[in-house]
Amino acid sequence: MVLTALLKEALETDVLVVGAGVLGLSSAYFMKKRDPSRKVMVVERLSGPGQGNSAKSEGGYRNLFASEINYLLADSSIDWFHHLQEDLNYDIGLHELGYLWLLPEEEYQQRRGPFEACRRRGARVLEYDSEELKTMMPDLVTDFGESEEPEIMGLEQVELGVFGPKCGSVDADRLVKAYESEFLKIGGEIHYNTEATKLIHDPVEPLGIPGEPFVWQESRIAGAETSKGKILAETTVVACGVWAAKILDPIGFDCLMRPKKRQIFAFKDPKLGRLLNTHDFNDDNSLPVTVLPTAGILLKGEVSEGSIWLACADNLGRKFELEDDPQPEDDYYSNNIYHALVQYLPCFQDVRPANSWAGQYDINGFDQTPVVEAGPGLIYVGASSGSGIMKCDALGRIVDAVNEEKEYATLYGGRGFKVSDLGIAKRQVEQETLVV
Ligand SMILES: Cc1cc2nc3c(=O)[nH]c(=O)nc-3n(C[C@H](O)[C@H](O)[C@H](O)COP(=O)(O)OP(=O)(O)OC[C@H]3O[C@@H](n4cnc5c(N)ncnc54)[C@H](O)[C@@H]3O)c2cc1C
Repeated sequence: MVLTALLKEALETDVLVVGAGVLGLSSAYFMKKRDPSRKVMVVERLSGPGQGNSAKSEGGYRNLFASEINYLLADSSIDWFHHLQEDLNYDIGLHELGYLWLLPEEEYQQRRGPFEACRRRGARVLEYDSEELKTMMPDLVTDFGESEEPEIMGLEQVELGVFGPKCGSVDADRLVKAYESEFLKIGGEIHYNTEATKLIHDPVEPLGIPGEPFVWQESRIAGAETSKGKILAETTVVACGVWAAKILDPIGFDCLMRPKKRQIFAFKDPKLGRLLNTHDFNDDNSLPVTVLPTAGILLKGEVSEGSIWLACADNLGRKFELEDDPQPEDDYYSNNIYHALVQYLPCFQDVRPANSWAGQYDINGFDQTPVVEAGPGLIYVGASSGSGIMKCDALGRIVDAVNEEKEYATLYGGRGFKVSDLGIAKRQVEQETLVV
């Protein structure tokens, strides 16, 4: 069915999912898969899947997290990525490039505990000293010697590399389309160019009196008004990413998330050939996802296009603000990131980005961990804090378990997950400290 014209009468569905990003579509898929006779409808204000922030993502994934919860969310989703690509034959551009944290001694000591915790959970974590790094990544400057500039800039030397092999990169756009395809295959409905403008707040037992629901009435979210008309639903899932507050604030539901711009600069230059084709870390002979010390600069080899993508975590000083169409700032690269980048990787000298774009993180500043919270007739999934791609499968399954009122979700591979841990009321989440 296509909502081409305005609806004259309200549509009815068992589940309405607002937002066709990676979290909306994975949630919709798992709820439909559990019971294919159930009607699950997705509405998306844009014209296709993942066009909000999912497809703007860098597509990096890692199972190295300080908190057990984030480890479980990511590790099981990574296993699902392999299943999608290797068993279900979706080419989601999965490349196990590995994740390399380049660390000064002091930072290594601070992060040692979290890395040890990853090992205890069964994650492989390797370490390289600066001599090994020099051989494996000849373009990297580990020792600044007598050079004054890095000292003035406060840049710290690389003493150690901590490497997670079960980490890498997926093509987020293709991943979202794989969920869309699986969802449609089992009878799911998606309506693009359809914006939910307002959540419907109704009494559970309407009395037909104007002004309902009154404070003394039991009430619930009963669907949404959309740009095409009213859609009534038993459960409404809000998966609107950075736009969640626009629809949840008016009903007084706190989504614990604030939007902040993130930019990606893509480089394709012969000078970067040796860095891009870094050997020894992975089967692709490509630059792993690599975090430089001090400045929060993150790079990865983009195997599909033979380029290097760069992002930077500028936390303090970058405002929280919702933007519909954020733009990359040339100045941010050339007058800012560049100066630190060339100290560690002089091969970037005079190299300009071939392409750049910007999106927004939906940041939970409290514990940097996603939220899945239910209210009457409502489930909210979001606050993915820059890691919604790598945790998407687990979050979709958790939304499904919440909808079923189950205490535990079963993640891909069979591990159990207590769903209330990600909620607000009974949240049990440790501070995430391995954040980029
Ligand atoms: C530059 C950048 C780099 C990133 N890098 C990584 C990374 O390397 N690894 C990683 O795991 N994550 C990364 N992320 C984060 C990741 O992209 C997000 O966590 C993830 O996409 C969130 O998915 P979502 O479905 O919640 O949001 P979105 O993909 O934004 O989906 C929300 C959808 O809801 C729609 N919508 C909103 N309001 C309404 C409404 N009222 N009615 C109908 N539709 C509505 C929007 O149009 C949108 O399509 C990155 C993000 C950015 C911006």
